[in-house]
Amino acid sequence: MLSAASRPYIAASVPVLREHGVTITRCFYQRLFAAHPQLKNIFNMPNQESGAQQQALASAIFAYAANIDNPAALAPVISRIVQKHVSLGIRAEHYPIVGKHLLDAIAEILGAAATPELLAAWAEAYGLLADTLIAEERKLYQAHGVEPGEYRAVRIVRKQKESDTVSSFYLQAGDGAELPPFQPGQYISVAVNVAELSLRQLRQYSLSGAPDSGYWRISVKREEGSPAGLVSNLLHDQFQEGDVLWVSPPCGDFVLAPDDMDTPLVLISAGVGVTPMMSMLHSSLQLSPQRPVNFLYATLDGRHHPLKRELDGLLMRHSQMQSYVAYERPAANDCVPQDYQQQGYLQLAAVPDALLPQNAAYFLCGPAPFMRAQRNALLARGVPERQIQQEVFGPSLLEHLQ
Ligand code: FAD
Repeated sequence: MLSAASRPYIAASVPVLREHGVTITRCFYQRLFAAHPQLKNIFNMPNQESGAQQQALASAIFAYAANIDNPAALAPVISRIVQKHVSLGIRAEHYPIVGKHLLDAIAEILGAAATPELLAAWAEAYGLLADTLIAEERKLYQAHGVEPGEYRAVRIVRKQKESDTVSSFYLQAGDGAELPPFQPGQYISVAVNVAELSLRQLRQYSLSGAPDSGYWRISVKREEGSPAGLVSNLLHDQFQEGDVLWVSPPCGDFVLAPDDMDTPLVLISAGVGVTPMMSMLHSSLQLSPQRPVNFLYATLDGRHHPLKRELDGLLMRHSQMQSYVAYERPAANDCVPQDYQQQGYLQLAAVPDALLPQNAAYFLCGPAPFMRAQRNALLARGVPERQIQQEVFGPSLLEHLQ
């Protein structure tokens, strides 16, 4: 617990972090990478370039300071960080390095305002957080039976085009052994050498298949932006059937509660955010045949509708499943109601009430504005916040904590 002496300094930091947070984290990463360039292998370097990572770290520090007396609010955030760190192979010895450069960055940016008392308070607060993370991460590594940073070789046994931009990779253990089980909704980190950066880069991909299928499956969208996404394009262009990928254990707490077999389930996703939903859908249909599952999905059009055939097959075989699709800009050959039911962005207000029961467990995954809109729409319908979970496919800004 934070000492009484440090408490007022951390509380007083909240407005300072609101104003200078990103400047501090930018300075922090510059210092960190100058002193330890090998750590670039762990961090997502395009997120550094775009500033997304600095923004995310600033918001995490801000949320930590603002909620330091509210462990209930911090607990889910810490759980999510622990899962991500284990997928990245973060080790206990990384924490003092990060702590040193964070404090140095605070001192540099705040100048005379960074009094010895303020820096001591932050050193204490950081130390408490680091101790918690180290302990929780150790437990998770042990539960997975891996050393921190240990990756597993898996073989691509099948590569399948799912839409204009998404391909699935079916993975089995390189040594022929069975892959460990995972919880529906979890992801793995994939390690790929990026020649143009002379770095290894890690990216997370949700497992999109059924947990008991005998393989792991990831479904990767080719990021065609400018500049083009590094790892997704390498996976699409250079990794073929028979090749080996190095991956982390399955991580993530965006999962179906294993003991909840009855509450209606509503899975709402957009774009490649469909991937964790597919795994949850398969799992629920197999393990809880009585449980109603409503699958709401938004995408551009039929050519950008990954895993559609698989979904249509499940819909035909399982009467407890219902589906509802919005195409933003349907193509001429996309048909209502066979292919889609709503045109434009998914508007929950226009979705039949029966698909959005008040007592359901809701899972959201997709671009940040999509999730914000659906979350707000659900709250406006009176769905309690505790029934809504979401997964962000990038650095999280922890908006709901601020
Ligand atoms: P990057 O090289 O990381 O680039 C990402 C984006 O940033 C690109 O659009 C690029 O144009 C842009 N960019 C690059 N440099 C700059 C710059 N200097 N300024 C501004 N913008 C820039 N993805 C999937 O396809 N399927 C999944 O199932 C999936 N699951 C995920 C699960 C989780 C928990 C998380 C966190 C992410 C998941 N992702 C998934 C996203 C995935 O991890 C990668 O982020 C994605 O594949 C892009 O990686 P990349 O290396 O191709 O792109």
